[in-house]
Amino acid sequence: MIITLKRATPQAEVDRLTDLFENQGLKVNLSFGEYYTIMGLVGDTTKIYEHDIEANEWVENVHRVQAPYKLANREFHPEDTIVYVGNTPIGAGQKLAIMAGPCSVESLEGICTIADEVKKAGANILRGGAYKPRTSPYSFQGLGYEGILDMVEARNRTGMPIVTEIMSEKHIDEFMENVDLVQIGARNMQNFDLLKAVGHLNKPILLKRGMSATIDEWIMSAEYIMAHGNPNVILCERGIRTFEKATRFTMDLAVIPIIKKKTHLPIIIDPSHATGSWELIEPVALAAVAAGADGLIIEVHDHPEQALSDGAQSLKPEKFAALVKNCKKVAEAVGRKI
Ligand code: PEP
Ligand code: MN
Repeated sequence: MIITLKRATPQAEVDRLTDLFENQGLKVNLSFGEYYTIMGLVGDTTKIYEHDIEANEWVENVHRVQAPYKLANREFHPEDTIVYVGNTPIGAGQKLAIMAGPCSVESLEGICTIADEVKKAGANILRGGAYKPRTSPYSFQGLGYEGILDMVEARNRTGMPIVTEIMSEKHIDEFMENVDLVQIGARNMQNFDLLKAVGHLNKPILLKRGMSATIDEWIMSAEYIMAHGNPNVILCERGIRTFEKATRFTMDLAVIPIIKKKTHLPIIIDPSHATGSWELIEPVALAAVAAGADGLIIEVHDHPEQALSDGAQSLKPEKFAALVKNCKKVAEAVGRKI
């Protein structure tokens, strides 16, 4: 971290700041110029917040050299991390994770039928929302715990691990007992109490990017989970808010290589929520595989027009099967497997 002090900063203040940083275990390199004094802090600066330093009246500016996250940072952990969901390894060039299923669990029979269909089509993890974060309080809110138990039954029948979203800390025991991959939705990406709570779980976490979150804010949310003891985080890009209205959100594809450069965590892509349109799911999925994604999460419903949520961005099982086939070709072209 490089701190520039204003002209005429009293020597006593330079000494005070030097002591302050040295007491935090940092080495301080001072350089006195004609107009400014530069302090170069060497060591782990993750616990220092640059805006706190800018509050000092003698500070001209602060420039962070090292990222504010450590556990998620590739610099301190050069190898790709593999996260296991059940027995399925995700990340580090392993086979792509194909997560598929309805937006919401609607009935036991419904989820079991879709589970069979997506498994046949090549999915290896079943998705289905039980607790649903809906924009309107009048929309279907999900089956709650009953939905989780329906997912468990679908897992028993198909052998596929299950992923579903947690919305509140008060349900943590239900998730601990029943769920293989715990999803933090876009709307809860900065629910720090929830992040801390899942940080204590001995379960992998699927952390979706908030729709208005920068990449660094998203990584800091992963850091929260990791700092509380859970290193098994999979990131999921699901589209961000921009001025564009042609799609529900805007798919940020460049985030795949950026996340790979900044972190060692696996990243998967959700083309359903990113586009909001079933017709756009396959082309975006193909692009994501080509760009190096470690997996996909896709909404599938056998009667999208009757779905209780997100029907317009759900594929029918046969279209999902065709998507998997085509993704296989792209995966092979870039040295990956499905
Ligand atoms: C979901 O996966 O069902 C969901 C609500 O996604 P997001 O949090 O990305 O909107
Ligand atoms: Mn959905």
